[in-house]
Amino acid sequence: MTAMLNVRDLRAYYGQVQALHGLEFGLNEGSLTTLLGANGAGKTTTLRAICNMVRSTGSIEFDGAPLTGRSTENIVRLGIAHVPQGRGTFTTMTVEENLQLGAITRKDKAGVVSDIERMYDHFPVLKQRHTQQAGTLSGGEQQMLAVARALMLRPRLMLLDEPSFGLAPLIVRDLFKILGKINREDKVTILVVEQNAQLALELADQAYVIETGRIVMSGKATEIANNEDVRKSYLGY
Ligand code: ATP
Repeated sequence: MTAMLNVRDLRAYYGQVQALHGLEFGLNEGSLTTLLGANGAGKTTTLRAICNMVRSTGSIEFDGAPLTGRSTENIVRLGIAHVPQGRGTFTTMTVEENLQLGAITRKDKAGVVSDIERMYDHFPVLKQRHTQQAGTLSGGEQQMLAVARALMLRPRLMLLDEPSFGLAPLIVRDLFKILGKINREDKVTILVVEQNAQLALELADQAYVIETGRIVMSGKATEIANNEDVRKSYLGY
């Protein structure tokens, strides 16, 4: 099977600093994959390189076509949504305005209206708070809004950077359950970068481990969760 996203020999640079050193991985359509790694391993940079937000070389193909040379905006239009670390909602706009803005490139008005309702099904708390300013939501609610807003693009692939960051464990579990549902029911392929390895491996079907800008391990999430090195380094037992 050809992967939906294929990354080969990816190298990324911040000025003179090289953050990725020949990264290789693939994502199958419909999969939910987690990218695990320690602080500074290159997880955020990997997502940024896919969206052409950092200087990089190598090959990234989406549906067999190279992303090289495309602008971030153009990559979004192809169906790749990025939810960066630290949420990134428009804080002075309401919840509903944020969702509408997520769909700004779409012409199908009726589809947008029904997708907003779909987001309220996934995240009932956003429905309760639809007229509230995003900046006044709790951290967990803002994270949910950021995910919902990205989904308003109707992406085929969603890249999530540490959705659990700063959230209470119960909220993280809720959010991860919803991500699983979005993957299964809405058929969105998901790549999630996580420091919370335990939860990420419970959620995902595939996993990659990145160390200093290289993939050092890959496989089914259940296999990776049982690997002794992973248990010692990332799961703490
Ligand atoms: P974390 O889990 O701490 O967010 P990460 O795995 O996402 O880490 P990256 O943020 O991708 O790691 O960083 C990879 C490497 O690139 C690190 O060594 C980091 O110091 C370096 N780096 C990241 N951003 C910059 C930048 N703007 N300028 C210089 N170096 C950077």
